[in-house]
Amino acid sequence: MLGFMVPDQFAESIYDIDFEELKQQGIKGVITDLDNTLVEWDRADATPELLEWIEMVQSEGFKITIVSNNKKKRVGTFSEPTGVSWIHSAKKPLTRAFRRATKEMNLTKDQVVVVGDQLLTDVFGGNRGGYHTILVVPVSKTDGWFTKANRRVERMVMKRLEKHKE
Ligand SMILES: [Mg+2]
Repeated sequence: MLGFMVPDQFAESIYDIDFEELKQQGIKGVITDLDNTLVEWDRADATPELLEWIEMVQSEGFKITIVSNNKKKRVGTFSEPTGVSWIHSAKKPLTRAFRRATKEMNLTKDQVVVVGDQLLTDVFGGNRGGYHTILVVPVSKTDGWFTKANRRVERMVMKRLEKHKE
């Protein structure tokens, strides 16, 4: 169970992900979380920096799908102007939305990386689904109440993982 909480990679932010390296590993698609991964959870629209990043990633040949546990209104309003495919109410860590996104990108799970800021949803779900996972540092210092609760569990898991290493 704890092993599923360990990401394959850590990155300071999405901007620090090495897409050349991923390409060499045969990765062709990116499933990314929205809130606190692409932008702050309370920011309605993509930043110019993020739009540039999306363009860069796509021009490198990657497909992108935003997979979020948030509601249709939030995920749609954010994603539509970016032109990136999106899935709302994903129920991560369940893997169904990941599988749907993978299928819609015409890829297989070993060609897709799952990126997110939460161990309990993004990393746990991604690992269970058999995906390469990248954990990023949350963009925002503040969280919604649900995420706050998740982070409390996350800290406990982290502590136990550190003990395992010793
Ligand atoms: Mg998130």
